[in-house]
Amino acid sequence: MVPSGLFTTTDLATIFRAASVAENLTGAFFDLANDEWTRNPYGVFTRKEVDSTLYREDAFAQVVLCSARRPAAGKVPLEEGFAIVLQDPTILRALLRAGSPDLWTLILFVLTHELVHIVRFRKFRIDCLAPHSETEREKEEQLVHSLTRKILAGVTNTDLLLNRYESYMNAAWSVA
Ligand SMILES: [Zn+2]
Repeated sequence: MVPSGLFTTTDLATIFRAASVAENLTGAFFDLANDEWTRNPYGVFTRKEVDSTLYREDAFAQVVLCSARRPAAGKVPLEEGFAIVLQDPTILRALLRAGSPDLWTLILFVLTHELVHIVRFRKFRIDCLAPHSETEREKEEQLVHSLTRKILAGVTNTDLLLNRYESYMNAAWSVA
C-alpha cells in the first residue's frame, strides 16, 4: 500500500476477494439467482484503468455504465454493462487516518454499497446514473446505505466502520 498512490498487486488481490464476498452477501440479501453475477458481470476498475474524467476526490468509488464501442488499446472489450470505478488515492488516504479500518473492511463496505446500486437498477430500475435532483440523490444514497448496513450486519469489523461512515456522511467519507 502506497500512501495517496495507487493500489498494489496485493491490494488488488484483497479487493477481488472482497468483491466475491460482497457478491455473495448482496445476492443472499436480495434473493438473487446463484448465477446472477455470472449472467450479469460487472467490471471493477482502478484509477489507472480509467480516463481522468472519471477521477473523483470526493468519493471512494462510483458506478458507471460502460460501452463496448471504444475499448482501450490492448484491453479486452467489455460488453455494455455496469462497472465500479475505485478511487485508489481516496481509499488509501482514508486508511491512513487514525482508527481507520483495514483495506479488506473498507473495500467490502464500498463494493457492497456499489453492488446495491447495481441490483437496484437491475431489479427495480432505480437508476443511480440518471440526473436526479440533489434531494432525490440524497434519498437514494441513504436508502442504499441502510441496505448496505443490513447486508453487512454481523460481519466482522464492519460495525465500527459503518458508524464512522454515518458520522462522516457527506464529508470526508463518501461513496457515490
Ligand atoms: Zn452510492
